[in-house]
Amino acid sequence: MVLLEAATPDLAPDALARMSIGQRDAWLLSLRESRFGPRVTGIVTCRACQEQIEVDFDIRQVRASPPASTAPLSVSQCGYRVDFRLPGTGDIEPSIHDGDVEATRRALFERCVVSAHRDGREVSAASVPPRVVDAVEARMGAADPQADIRLTLTCSECASAWAVTFDIATFLWSEVEASARRTLLEVHTLASAYGWREADILALSPPRRRFYLEAVTP
Ligand SMILES: [Zn+2]
Repeated sequence: MVLLEAATPDLAPDALARMSIGQRDAWLLSLRESRFGPRVTGIVTCRACQEQIEVDFDIRQVRASPPASTAPLSVSQCGYRVDFRLPGTGDIEPSIHDGDVEATRRALFERCVVSAHRDGREVSAASVPPRVVDAVEARMGAADPQADIRLTLTCSECASAWAVTFDIATFLWSEVEASARRTLLEVHTLASAYGWREADILALSPPRRRFYLEAVTP
């Protein structure tokens, strides 16, 4: 949300918090594509043979369709009927129970329940049994596929295949962090060599900055 607020000032912060995770991640994928291009490369360790394998894909390959509507969804199972909405970023933090994945999952479920009924009578979200929660979770995933990007990797050495989750929020954050550190180092190099102010160095176009950097670094 910090990245999106900085990059898209037109989006109100509360609108960002209400977006489903998939809608938010679609914005993050677009932001990544506009700032760093569509190709994603990385190194992953094979789970079977520990070989380092290269991962390389295009952002467009992991694009999924957005949720069909923002109206609440509904699941009927085991005599229960649960109406719920898709979770958004604003639901995550209040649901977190440190180190307890199951409690976090349950809290997130309860936050997203609009109403729950058993045999036609209203019941609390807390009383909904785990298998109905599982069904709701599966429906959430199917309705908002962009929220859960899975990549199937195949090791070039031992041919074993496995699935990994690609979290665009964590990935882009680390890229922005690395890029910021690189920029500060460039400012440091040019300021030390020429005595220029930080603001003036940042105002240089990228080709000019690169020219001066090449001129001062052996
Ligand atoms: Zn392998």
